[in-house]
Amino acid sequence: LTKDTLENIKQTDGELEAFVRLHEDAALEAARVADEEGNFDNILAGIPMAMKDNISTEGLETTGASKILSGFEPVYDATATKKLKAAGAVIVGKANMDEFAMGGSTETSAYKKTKNAWDLSRVPGGSSGGSAAAVAAGQVPYALGSDTGGSIRQPAAFNGLAGMKPTYGRVSRFGLFAMASSLDQIGPLTRTVKDNALVLNAISGFDERDSTSANLLVPDFTEKMGQSIKGMKVAVPKEYFEEGISDEVKLQVNAAIAELKAMGAEVSEVSLPHTQYGVAAYYVLMSSEASSNLQRYDGIRYGFRAPDAKSLEEVYKKTRSEGFGPEVKRRIMLGTFSLSAGAYDAFFRKAAQIRTLIIEDFNKVFEDYDLIVAPTTPTQAYKIGSEIDDPKAMYMGDVLTIPVNLAGLPAMSVNAGFNAGLPIGLQIIGKAFDEQTIYQLAYAFE
Ligand code: GLN
Repeated sequence: LTKDTLENIKQTDGELEAFVRLHEDAALEAARVADEEGNFDNILAGIPMAMKDNISTEGLETTGASKILSGFEPVYDATATKKLKAAGAVIVGKANMDEFAMGGSTETSAYKKTKNAWDLSRVPGGSSGGSAAAVAAGQVPYALGSDTGGSIRQPAAFNGLAGMKPTYGRVSRFGLFAMASSLDQIGPLTRTVKDNALVLNAISGFDERDSTSANLLVPDFTEKMGQSIKGMKVAVPKEYFEEGISDEVKLQVNAAIAELKAMGAEVSEVSLPHTQYGVAAYYVLMSSEASSNLQRYDGIRYGFRAPDAKSLEEVYKKTRSEGFGPEVKRRIMLGTFSLSAGAYDAFFRKAAQIRTLIIEDFNKVFEDYDLIVAPTTPTQAYKIGSEIDDPKAMYMGDVLTIPVNLAGLPAMSVNAGFNAGLPIGLQIIGKAFDEQTIYQLAYAFE
């Protein structure tokens, strides 16, 4: 299986460019060990997968799709990697992504431009665009991604996949290259809902190496699959259908909601009134956290160092000037500014206050409802090159996914159907640590 998978990737990836690099020898070795151990009660044993390039794999180059980490070989596995390896998983390679997960189209990668699996002239979404394209094109049955403001759900929507952003704290962030530590989560991208739950089963759980990891028992995420959704209370937020949402998306998501009603779900319209402030608050908070997290790339400890620097200061300056791409630099500057003494009250503090209002919006709805359903993205996948020069337009693409990260909630995108040959995502948002109910509805809908 691993040999065939590698062969197939070599034939298809010249065009798709989902992988930043393959780890052939390590994959074949992992497959050999899985065979030898023969532990096939473990559902992931011997199954190939793609790892997003910001999740540490011991001894295997991992770069966050940034030039500044070129050549960097982590000395330890991320906890999610470790858990997958323990389950017998075969990591075949690193999936392309936006540089340090900053972007929504995988175009900010320092290495490659991944294509959408359904239309090679379009973006795969991002930042986990390589993970999504690889799974949608059938190169691997599953991939891990990370989601700080939508980076699992949006590419899942653009490629017709199931993509889960678990509750903050459900999956350890140890070994995930930190972008915005209060928002980041690792999660699975798969073709089916059941596969998704099985992968989440394998990577979840308390980890003392991540201080924000939740010390809770992990339920079996497949447990409620197959149970009826009759009588389930489902909320539809009206703000998720307002300006900027395309007619195609509205049409398909409304059809999905009609289907849920036909299955017996009790669907009502609700309001999440602070939705419109989410993007602004997110880009202040995320940039602030990222500006601090990215200080570690100083040319001394990891990866790339500018070759011709003549003093310590020059090492920092030149390495960071040459090593980071324009989107990363933009956010470091934005974040450093928001945290500066003169700007803190007007920017960082305000954004933190908005975050609280958004959390309260969700809490209120979840007093009366089991789930929230909405579109995942305002539009379908767009043409490569059409938005990359307009950061504000790109940022607005996250308007429907960001609030979930600000509130730390679990949410999944599943395929709601196609329009003109391109998939459209239905987003299912749950209560904290209630991924099971999300999977129940997703499975019934699929
Ligand atoms: N597109 C969003 C951003 O650029 C989300 C990225 C993410 O979730 N990693 O910040």
